[in-house]
Amino acid sequence: MSIQENRFQAIISHAKEYGYVFASSEIYDGLSAVYDYGPYGSELKKNIRDYWWKSMTQLHENIVGIDAAIFMHPTTWKASGHVDNFSDPMIDNKDSKKRYRVDHLIEGYADRLKEAGNKAKADELLQAMDALLAKDDYAGLKSLIEDNKIACQISGTVNWTDIRQFNLMFSTQIGSVSEESETIYLRPETAQGIFVNFLNVQKTARMKVPFGIAQTGKAFRNEIVARQFIFRMREFEQMEMQFFIRPGTQKVWYEYWKQTRLAWHLGLGLPADKYRFHDHVKLAHYADAAVDIEYEFPIGFKEVEGIHSRTDFDLSQHQKYSNKKLQYFDNDINEETGKPYGNYVPYVIETSIGLDRMFLLVLSHAYDEEVLTKEDGSTDTRTVMHIPPLLAPIKLAVLPLTKKDGLPEIARAIMDECKPAFRCFYEEKDQIGKRYRRQDAIGTPFCVTIDNQTKEDQTVTIRYRDSMLQERILISEVKNIVLKAIG
Ligand code: ATP
Repeated sequence: MSIQENRFQAIISHAKEYGYVFASSEIYDGLSAVYDYGPYGSELKKNIRDYWWKSMTQLHENIVGIDAAIFMHPTTWKASGHVDNFSDPMIDNKDSKKRYRVDHLIEGYADRLKEAGNKAKADELLQAMDALLAKDDYAGLKSLIEDNKIACQISGTVNWTDIRQFNLMFSTQIGSVSEESETIYLRPETAQGIFVNFLNVQKTARMKVPFGIAQTGKAFRNEIVARQFIFRMREFEQMEMQFFIRPGTQKVWYEYWKQTRLAWHLGLGLPADKYRFHDHVKLAHYADAAVDIEYEFPIGFKEVEGIHSRTDFDLSQHQKYSNKKLQYFDNDINEETGKPYGNYVPYVIETSIGLDRMFLLVLSHAYDEEVLTKEDGSTDTRTVMHIPPLLAPIKLAVLPLTKKDGLPEIARAIMDECKPAFRCFYEEKDQIGKRYRRQDAIGTPFCVTIDNQTKEDQTVTIRYRDSMLQERILISEVKNIVLKAIG
């Protein structure tokens, strides 16, 4: 296993041990690519969602939120193209019966070539793959796999079926009696709930183009290659925003949202050199431009967010299938014609980020096994999560040095003052060093310790997670220090 793979495994174990992420229904041996979030995980997830929601809706006066249902009228998915097009090219190994997404199979092989020092060959292979995918040339892709002798990781053979399309939507029945039932889908993206509500929102919130609609919620995809922990799940959460614009202005807005979304990531203090843009060569059926924001996870550079110029594809399709007009009347004057812009179907720029992937990104950035040199020259390691304070599940741990001498009472008073403002944690068990380490492992940015001196001068020791520095401050300063860090 490479160092990076080891690191990824360490993050997965740590996430479980400290109540961040559990395998779903673990007592029954789990369910593949489905996960539950534990006490700290659900807090971190909520904090990421809140940070996104606030930056989209509160800080952009022209963006409003909705919360649409997961189930939608089945025609929605016919209109959106998902029934016919939401599929990935797959290939099966005849010996192991294992099914692979073609791009993942080839990319996996390219990664192994790179690890073996053959970067030029890997790049050449990926270029050839992109060109063939762009042409939907499945016979060519199969030859590429066979010519490079790309083998199944289980059987070790190159005995492959032809490449076929496999739809990723989950279906179920609505209605209690089977004759009455109709097939419906679990939404594979949250975006369509926004498109079908376009006029409801525009009218009731009295929005003027350009404006956006934001939404967070669950999406479901029957992913074939479901490994890599919460990177690729079958049930996951998206945070999407559709920005409705005048036709012809899409290039400007596409650029605006590309930069704005990258700035959102960097605003958390995440390192710029771990990010890059990746332009799509093969565009989805609805897009005229698309880019991924990629982050360097321990498993390599991978997509965390997509920005798509979706043209008027979705609204026009829903107009066609529903027979209802989904147009906007723009009474601003067009300087070229001297007349109002009039009626049109708006164009759309979409920003779409996976909440779970962002969660994994934060863990990947935060997780660290630090080697510390003690005064006597010996070494020790500490596991610490450098989670940005704004996102940390617990902001402040309040720790009386002992259980007696009135120290817990002072600690409780600090808790009472701070807990309405942010999440705090109280603990009086164990040695103080052990308690600090536990908070480091959870990612708590601040600890305050109450000792006998506190009773004399109203000061406590504050310990900073990242630097491990300790200093004495007044009790009255504690709340503001934390608020400033998460503000
Ligand atoms: P990928 O190429 O990784 O399958 P995608 O291009 O299909 O992703 P989009 O349809 O653009 O993804 O979805 C937007 C975002 O939703 C992605 O950037 C990703 O963060 C998230 N996402 C998509 N599929 C999954 C999944 N199976 N598990 C977790 N997050 C996902």
